[in-house]
Amino acid sequence: MHEPHAHDPSRRRLLRALGAAPLALGALETLPVAQAQTSDARVHVVIAGSGLGGIAVASRLRKLLPQARITIVDAKLEHNYQPGYTLVATGVWPIAKVRDRNADFQPEGVQWVQEMVAEFDPAANSLTTTSGSKISYDYLVVATGLQLGYDQIEGMDVKAIGQNGLGSVYLGPEAALATWRAMDAFRAQGGRAVMTLPAGPLKCAGAPLKMTFMVADRLRQAGTRDRSSVDFYTGLPDDTVFGVKVVNDDVLARWKNLDIQPHYLSRLVAVDTGARKAVFASPEGERSEVDYDFLHVVPPMRAVDAVRDSELAAQEGPMLGWLQVSKDTLQHQRFANVFGVGDINGTPRGKTAATVKKSAPLVAHNLARVVAGQAPDEIFDGYTSCPMIVREGSAMLIEFDYEGRLTPSMPFIDPMQESFMAWLMKVRLLKPAYVAVLKGRV
Ligand SMILES: Cc1cc2nc3c(=O)[nH]c(=O)nc-3n(C[C@H](O)[C@H](O)[C@H](O)COP(=O)(O)OP(=O)(O)OC[C@H]3O[C@@H](n4cnc5c(N)ncnc54)[C@H](O)[C@@H]3O)c2cc1C
Repeated sequence: MHEPHAHDPSRRRLLRALGAAPLALGALETLPVAQAQTSDARVHVVIAGSGLGGIAVASRLRKLLPQARITIVDAKLEHNYQPGYTLVATGVWPIAKVRDRNADFQPEGVQWVQEMVAEFDPAANSLTTTSGSKISYDYLVVATGLQLGYDQIEGMDVKAIGQNGLGSVYLGPEAALATWRAMDAFRAQGGRAVMTLPAGPLKCAGAPLKMTFMVADRLRQAGTRDRSSVDFYTGLPDDTVFGVKVVNDDVLARWKNLDIQPHYLSRLVAVDTGARKAVFASPEGERSEVDYDFLHVVPPMRAVDAVRDSELAAQEGPMLGWLQVSKDTLQHQRFANVFGVGDINGTPRGKTAATVKKSAPLVAHNLARVVAGQAPDEIFDGYTSCPMIVREGSAMLIEFDYEGRLTPSMPFIDPMQESFMAWLMKVRLLKPAYVAVLKGRV
């Protein structure tokens, strides 16, 4: 587990320069959001979820509404830096780098109820926790993230991740580490790698692609690439592996050069982890069985049950079940005292930590305006970012908006050019930036 090429003197100088904290956070600064006026309103704001979005909004509301009572509801004690999972799962980072204590990030003066929300009742401005306690609020921020649908893949047993060539980066830190164990054993022998990507909303839709680039690179490093194959099966239509066309086409061109074979309209529906067989279905329901030596499972994703089963969910349309917010203001479309932040939002794009970095200040600002009896006035552009790792030591820093337009924020990094600089950002700078977002500093 090391950073490659760090012995190269020019790269060592670059590393030193990037180590300077002001540059790190300056370069990653959020675009300015108009200052909301602070208010002395003694309202009660409840935040459901204490992942990145929930804590980031709480930190900002603490400043904007100093007299407000703020309650966070979430049973999770560990805070995981999820963007680091791909680094753990490909042998770049140790597991400790993605594990922190949630208590260390809770803003001062915020009450933390260590339970899950079982039911939302927005018409009554209240929610019920898993123990049956009822909590009433004046304003609600939904920040529950999403739910992984491993149960929608027949035969998939998450306990088997890490054994018998089975990997899946999404489940959590242990699964990410177990995935690396499986990949490491696989690369020593070589064989058939089968990588997957479902259709539908996904958090960090680039992660399945990064895993694919990295498995090919790990085989190359081990000298077993020539006797191996890397196949990528996706439920998406022909010639589609990513939702932004220019990035999609670039990835497909790279895969052609790397001899990575995509297969479209092929959804992973079943796996026999003992016999190492994956089953894919076409949209017509036709099934085909594929043998593998290493399988990377990416589960379909959906809104968490408590939101999906509530009045807060979109009742129809492509984002059915997700939190029905305005994609512009992130205010709920039917309940004006409710806002959403992060992966749970039923917006057309933006299930990344980078999205939270830009939208959490906007949500806090717009909510404070509503508390003050004003209309939300900050409009979100859908900012999403994905550092696309293309091999160890090289990445592309891709940033885009709702329309799929590239929105590069770093003048010295060409988004479509792979670079060691973008790799360094991924492995060195983005976690400090993430912590700064949690603490309300950017
Ligand atoms: C493998 C992987 C790679 C990624 N790579 C990147 C990347 O390179 N760049 C990037 O920007 N982003 C990346 N992301 C995405 C990023 O981590 C998420 O978009 C971000 O964490 C979303 O924040 P959130 O607050 O919406 O959800 P989360 O951080 O997931 O937090 C949700 C919280 O809500 C809680 N919760 C759930 N249900 C309930 C309930 N009923 N009641 C109360 N609380 C509840 C959970 O316990 C959790 O603490 C990656 C994610 C993964 C998994």
